[in-house]
Amino acid sequence: MSENSKIEWTDHTFNPWEGCQKVGPGCDNCYAETRNARYAGGTAINWGPGAPRRRTSEANWRKPRAWNAAHAEFFAAHGRRQRVFCASLADVFDNAIDPAWREELFKLINETPNLDWLLLTKRIGNVPMMVSVIPGHLPDNVWLGATIVNQEEADRDIEKLLMTPARRRFLSIEPLLGPVDLLAWFDPTGNCCMQEMQSCENCPADAPWIHGPTTEYAEDGSGYSSPEIDWVIVGGESGPGARPMHPDWARDIRDQCEAVGVPFLFKQWGEWAPGESCGGPLTRTERTADWWDGKWMFGELTPKGSESIHYDDEPVLYRCGKKKAGRHLDGRTHDDFPKA
Ligand code: SF4
Repeated sequence: MSENSKIEWTDHTFNPWEGCQKVGPGCDNCYAETRNARYAGGTAINWGPGAPRRRTSEANWRKPRAWNAAHAEFFAAHGRRQRVFCASLADVFDNAIDPAWREELFKLINETPNLDWLLLTKRIGNVPMMVSVIPGHLPDNVWLGATIVNQEEADRDIEKLLMTPARRRFLSIEPLLGPVDLLAWFDPTGNCCMQEMQSCENCPADAPWIHGPTTEYAEDGSGYSSPEIDWVIVGGESGPGARPMHPDWARDIRDQCEAVGVPFLFKQWGEWAPGESCGGPLTRTERTADWWDGKWMFGELTPKGSESIHYDDEPVLYRCGKKKAGRHLDGRTHDDFPKA
């Protein structure tokens, strides 16, 4: 339930409870549901409407306190605070969770101030209401993240993320299922007040990143600041039934982030990757995916002798597996993080 995580962008994973309900296309191949079914004899007993969620053990709940106590040692070794991803087998802001459980979680977060808690949700619209009761606002050591997988979800959810007061905000765009334009939510001036000030010289009147009012104050107390996206994570899908991610979709988001100085982390290709990432001669029949006329065309490439996967600019992807596909985008890793 908790571990020193294998997820690239966190140090620990903590699951206060297990169980959830699918809410969108990003959930179609939910590995947590598959795992839940595996441990329960084939049926995901903690998934779906009406299914009970399972609270994890008291021993598990004690682990973040141990990580918190180990802060000095970790900081001396790494020069930064520990990051805790909560939760990989559930959603903190799931409506079906007993509010008393969430209250206990926020108490734990408040009592572990040496940890940065990364709360990533597919229910970003629930956050203001759920934290307005307990604890009243998000603790300062929370980084609030919204998962989106396509433009439709970006249009629906990013504004909700930006309008929720939080010390750090991030997007996890995984699995990336289509092109996503983030320009409307980036503020290249770094000073946009979202039209809160009566006369504002920071942005042209038609600035595309101005999308509504905010009530957030700058951390230095100098006045209003724009709520910002502090970090963007992109990844492809892994596991059975994984859908391909077009390289240009990932590149485009990387370039958008670079243009405005937003940290970008490329987490993984997932099951499918272009030839230069899969590499090497074919040793078995390889499933292929071609992007053609706005959709994926699937096929197979059968090895003949030492025939290699071809390396070119064509958007042909190969199902070579998450491990082989790795996490290089255009020949390098992208591992940027926001300041803690
Ligand atoms: S929100 Fe996350 S844990 Fe819940 S069903 Fe969707 S992918 Fe699975």
